[in-house]
Amino acid sequence: MNLLVSSIREKYLHALDQIATAARKSNRDPNEVRLVVVTKSQPLEVAQAAIEAGARILGENYPEEGVTKIQSLGNQTGVEWHMIGHVQSRKARLVADHFALLHSLDSLNLAQRLNRFAGEANRILPILLEFNVGGEESKGGWDASDESTWDSLLPDVSTILDLPHVQIRGLMSMPPLGNDAEDSRRFFYQVRRLRERLADQLPGGDWRELSMGTSLDYAVAVEEGATLVRVGTAIVGERSKRRHTPEE
Ligand SMILES: *Cc1c(COP(=O)(O)O)cnc(C)c1O
Repeated sequence: MNLLVSSIREKYLHALDQIATAARKSNRDPNEVRLVVVTKSQPLEVAQAAIEAGARILGENYPEEGVTKIQSLGNQTGVEWHMIGHVQSRKARLVADHFALLHSLDSLNLAQRLNRFAGEANRILPILLEFNVGGEESKGGWDASDESTWDSLLPDVSTILDLPHVQIRGLMSMPPLGNDAEDSRRFFYQVRRLRERLADQLPGGDWRELSMGTSLDYAVAVEEGATLVRVGTAIVGERSKRRHTPEE
């Protein structure tokens, strides 16, 4: 095992350990939680090393960068690639063709495009609905910061539920960046409550997944019910500072 792999492995195992501890603390089965290792803006060697270190799910933010990695590394058995960043409508086909799960579905229009492309590719794309529970302008997702307006989300969600080639599996959220992991707790709790509301109003859907928690706060996210945590820097280190253009 080379140095890069063993250094990533140590941090990967530590993260699994933190997840298990947090799960037990809230009386959950640690096996309910899956760890997505976020390799966005990391070179191919880092993604390869993460796989050798044991990562089974890799998360990418930019469709083209992700597809390049999938085409180089994607034939390794048991490895899944998830798209976790905002998808521009003209990148929808790349996502529909190549990714195992889209965490960040953030509009009805994108859902309809993905549905069309997934249909053409003869597949069903599993997706999570992204909700913005912090109400920040800069964040994607349906605005769900005000609980009294949650019912207004139902028409879009039920339209998406009826699309044959995208399949809702749950919710995703990216709360405001706090100074401390505990700052995120109330937002994670809101996401879990929103899931309960949707499951109650639209019981035909599959609401099992909650994708929430990053390097800073994934343990708190697990305590609040996360089934997928998205951890980058705490496992694979700092990303390159290369700026992505809005087109990416
Ligand atoms: C970059 C990113 C992450 C990982 O963030 P880290 O702080 O590196 O753990 C998780 N989720 C999304 C949506 C991201 O864009």
